[in-house]
Amino acid sequence: MKNIGSYVDGKIVEPPSKSLEKVYDSSTGEQIGNVLVPDKNFVSEVVNSSKKAFDSWSNITPLKRSRVLFNYKKLLEENIDKMARVISIEHGKTFDDAQGSITRGIEVVEFATGIPHLLKGDFSQNVGSEIDSWSQRYPLGICLGITPFNFPAMVPLWMFPISIACGNSFILKPSEKDPTCSLMMAELFSQAGLPDGVLNVINGNKDTVNQLIENDEISSVSFVGSTPVAKQIFEKSSKFEKRVQALGGAKNHLVIMPDANVDQAVDALIGAAYGSAGERCMAVSVAVTVGDISQTIVDNVYNKALQLKVAPHSDESSQMGPLISKEHKEKVENYISEGVSEGANLVLDGRNIKIQGYENGYFVGPTIFDNVSKNMSIYKEEIFGPVLCVVRVDNYEEALTLINDHPYGNGTSIYTSDGEISRHFTTNSKIGMVGVNVPIPVPMAFHSFGGWKKSLFGDHSMHGEEGVRFFTKLKTVTSRWPKSIKAGPEFKMPTN
Ligand code: NAD
Repeated sequence: MKNIGSYVDGKIVEPPSKSLEKVYDSSTGEQIGNVLVPDKNFVSEVVNSSKKAFDSWSNITPLKRSRVLFNYKKLLEENIDKMARVISIEHGKTFDDAQGSITRGIEVVEFATGIPHLLKGDFSQNVGSEIDSWSQRYPLGICLGITPFNFPAMVPLWMFPISIACGNSFILKPSEKDPTCSLMMAELFSQAGLPDGVLNVINGNKDTVNQLIENDEISSVSFVGSTPVAKQIFEKSSKFEKRVQALGGAKNHLVIMPDANVDQAVDALIGAAYGSAGERCMAVSVAVTVGDISQTIVDNVYNKALQLKVAPHSDESSQMGPLISKEHKEKVENYISEGVSEGANLVLDGRNIKIQGYENGYFVGPTIFDNVSKNMSIYKEEIFGPVLCVVRVDNYEEALTLINDHPYGNGTSIYTSDGEISRHFTTNSKIGMVGVNVPIPVPMAFHSFGGWKKSLFGDHSMHGEEGVRFFTKLKTVTSRWPKSIKAGPEFKMPTN
């Protein structure tokens, strides 16, 4: 059984530990490792290492920092298969899907290589007579990232490349359920030329998170995970006077209008509802079918979902792997039972699926509920599994109201051939990321990722220019030089 330690000062270390977190191969259900949860002293030592690293790293020119990121991008690309394999084992997603998620992360590194341009600042000459003014962004210090299990490479890569490019040092606390990839990413960054201590990874659990947030030396907290924890992290980090962005859960609706292209809409639903076994914050978990098209959509989704290949990542033809853990599988199955007792029509039941040779894996098959209504828990709550709820509505206005009334506001999309409806939808939906005729409107690295309502606590989305703004503080200088002030003190506000 392997011990999973932390990455500090450029090497993997096994911290003194009184408690362990078990890591499983989610396809077989076999335990494959133990996370060594560090004690409080170790956490303080790591923070000291990050502090020391910040003092020198923040003084390195942005151009030189950018060159390290160029090296890093290349190393990540060379090692993508190795990382994807580890993710497939610990998380369960298919190999292709794991590779794709790392590629999306590498795109953030590409964006961060442009840091000299992104940190250029603003300059105004002659804001008053002989007075110039400029604004410049400065790094914050030590930034902390706390990440979820569902994207063990991509979500950390949303955070630390930009933070480090801005001149900060960074401490990453990955999910204890699939912790290994973060260590690999940190090792590669060192190989790329990153000085020791600029990126430290502390594997641990929620106690580790709390110890880090309570530490006075930490300047900012970036969190991605479930909504109850996001809210708690937002409140605690604010109390400890840190800048905080906390991204939470989701319940994403895809609207299918009567004039939609049926084949495209059905393919979109299949990929977005069942890809990564529904364990994506941008997964579509609600299909809102408008008017006459409803039965056609349900029938077509059913036929395609039946053909999905549910298998472990080792089977190259697999389209959907297992869920992350035994507890999560039980939670998803309980939701399915609840949906039945609440009166939704279970069209396809993913419970009790058996994969030969992988009977102890955490598999749940594709599931479809039709005639779901908005008071049911399967509609109100995030299930985070391969469960698609179909809500039938009579018209577009009803679909929009449904979306806007839902407490989550991460992503949504509409399938239609009507430009007017699509424009109305993009303008009036109270959601952070909106798609038209695309299933999962995940913004690229040079735009920013983030939801509204209970899907994001704090003011800043992740990556893109929002990322640069989050990881820096602004200073504005007003200067009169070289002439000295001859007229003596002034007591009114200067106006020219
Ligand atoms: P989670 O909230 O259980 O855990 C996330 C992180 O927080 C982990 O590192 C964990 O160790 C830590 N943590 C858990 N409980 C804590 C507590 N009480 N105090 C302090 N730290 C704690 O989330 P998860 O199950 O790992 O991930 C799935 C969730 O993440 C889903 O809700 C999904 O929608 C969400 N998610 C959101 C986005 C987004 O961009 N909005 C992206 C990916 C995942």
